[in-house]
Amino acid sequence: MNRYIDKFTEEEILKVIKAYLVDGLSHRKIQSQILGLPAPDNGGGYVVMNILHYFNIKGDKKGILTSQNINNLIKNATGNYCMGLKKIKAYFLEETKAENIIKGLNTDNIINTEITTLTKQRVGQYKLREYILDIYEHKCALCDIDKDDLLVCSHIVPWRTDEKNRLNPKNAICLCAQHDRLFDRGYFSLDENYNIKYGVKADYKIINLLKHRNFRKPIENLPDKQLLKVHFDSYCK
Ligand SMILES: [Zn+2]
Repeated sequence: MNRYIDKFTEEEILKVIKAYLVDGLSHRKIQSQILGLPAPDNGGGYVVMNILHYFNIKGDKKGILTSQNINNLIKNATGNYCMGLKKIKAYFLEETKAENIIKGLNTDNIINTEITTLTKQRVGQYKLREYILDIYEHKCALCDIDKDDLLVCSHIVPWRTDEKNRLNPKNAICLCAQHDRLFDRGYFSLDENYNIKYGVKADYKIINLLKHRNFRKPIENLPDKQLLKVHFDSYCK
C-alpha cells in the first residue's frame, strides 16, 4: 500500500519519474519543483521517495535514462518498474506526436494505451503553449506583458468544441490573462485584417481599454481568418 500514489494525477507521477530517471534531480528538488510541496533540508523529499519506491526506483537508477536506452531497460525490467518505464516511453511518444501535429508534419496515429487520454491531452496542451509563446516571442499579442506566468495560449475556437483544431497553432493566440479573458468572453475578436472588432457586450469602458491596441503578429502561423470569423459569430454577436 502506497500512501501517495493516489493523491497525485498520472501526469504528476510521470513528471516525477521523468525528473528522476532523465534529469537526475534530487528527491527534494522534484518535490518542490514538480509537486509544489515544501521540501525542507531535513527529510524534505519524502513524498517523492515514496512515489519512486512504488515503481521500485531507488538511488541506483537516478539519471539512468541519460546513459541508457529506454527500450533496453524495459526489456530487462519487471513489475511496477517496467510499468513506470512503459508509461514514460508513452509520454515521450505523445510529446513527439503533439510536436509533429503542431508543426503540421505527418504523424502516425500511434495508439498508446500506457497513458490516459487526459494525460495525452495535457501533453498536447503543454506543447502547444510552449510553441505559441515562442512564436509570439513570449509577449501578449496586444500589450507589453511579457511574463510567462501571465501569458495564456488562448484558443480562438475553444478546445472543447473543436477537436480537430485543438493542436492547430493557427487556432491560438498568445494573450495576457486579461486580454485572454476579454477574448474568451466575446468582448472582442479580430477582423480579417487583424484589427480589433468589438463584441456586442463591449461598452465604452471596455472599448477605452482596447482602442489603442494593435495586434502584433507572430513570427509564423498567423491566426486563421476563418476560425476568427467563427469566434466572432459564436461569441461576439
Ligand atoms: Zn495583453
